[in-house]
Amino acid sequence: MGIVETKGGLWVVNGYELGSKQRTRVAMGIQIAHFPAIKTLEEFDFKFQPSVDHKLVRELATGRFLAEADNVLVFGLPGVGKTHLAIALGRSVVEAGHSVLFTSATALLAALSKAETEGQFAEKLLFYTKRKLLVIDELGYLPFERQSAHLFFQLVARRYEKSSTLITTNQAVTQWGTVFGDDVLAAAILDRLLHPQPHADDLGDSYRLKQKKKAGLLGGNAAPAR
Ligand code: ADP
Ligand code: MG
Repeated sequence: MGIVETKGGLWVVNGYELGSKQRTRVAMGIQIAHFPAIKTLEEFDFKFQPSVDHKLVRELATGRFLAEADNVLVFGLPGVGKTHLAIALGRSVVEAGHSVLFTSATALLAALSKAETEGQFAEKLLFYTKRKLLVIDELGYLPFERQSAHLFFQLVARRYEKSSTLITTNQAVTQWGTVFGDDVLAAAILDRLLHPQPHADDLGDSYRLKQKKKAGLLGGNAAPAR
C-alpha cells in the first residue's frame, strides 16, 4: 500500500523491508516535498471521520492515480483533517517512488505573483510543473486577486493531463466563482481539474459528486458555477 512502518527501526513498504538505498530515496523525497508536518495514514482515525472513503484513500496511497494524471479534491470544513490526509497521501506517494511538492494555496499564489513581477514566471511555472504530484493545501480560505486567479489557471492548464494535483478546500466547487473572483475562469479551472473524472473525498459535509454533475462541471462539460 505504499505505507511505511518505521516500528522497531525497520522501514517496511508493501510488506517488504526497504534497503538502505531506497530508504535514502524516500527520506530525500520527503525532504524535497516540503511537508509542513509529519502526518501518516496510520495516524488518521477513519472511525472519527466516517464520511472519508477509506478504500479510496488506500487506493490513492498506492500512487496509481498518477499514471492517468488524475486529480484529487478533498473537501471539508476547517479542522476535519484535510491537511492531515493531504500530507499523509503525499508521503505515501513519495514512498511509492514518485516526486511530490506540497504548498499552501497562499504560498503558491504569492510565489507565482512575485515571479511574474520579476519576469521569472516561466521558470516558476516549470518549478511547480515538474513534480509528479503537486499538493495545494487550503484553497478558498482567502479569495484570489483576479490576476492571481489567471496565474493559477496557467499552472492548472500546464499540469492538465500530464501530472496530478491534489487540492484541499473548504469551498464547494459551486463557490469557486467567488474564490477566483470570476465564474468563467473558475469553470475553466474546474474543467481541467475535474477532467476526465476526479477522485473526490468529502470530509464531514454533505457535498457530493452528484452536485457537481448537477452544476454541469463533470466530464469536460463545464458551465460557469453560479
Ligand atoms: P483541516 O486541514 O481540515 O483544517 P487538519 O488536517 O489540520 O484539518 O486537522 C486538524 C488537527 O486534527 C491536525 O492535528 C490533525 O492531525 C488532526 N486530525 C483531524 N482529523 C483527524 C483524524 N480523523 N484522525 C487523526 N487526527 C486528525
Ligand atoms: Mg488544513
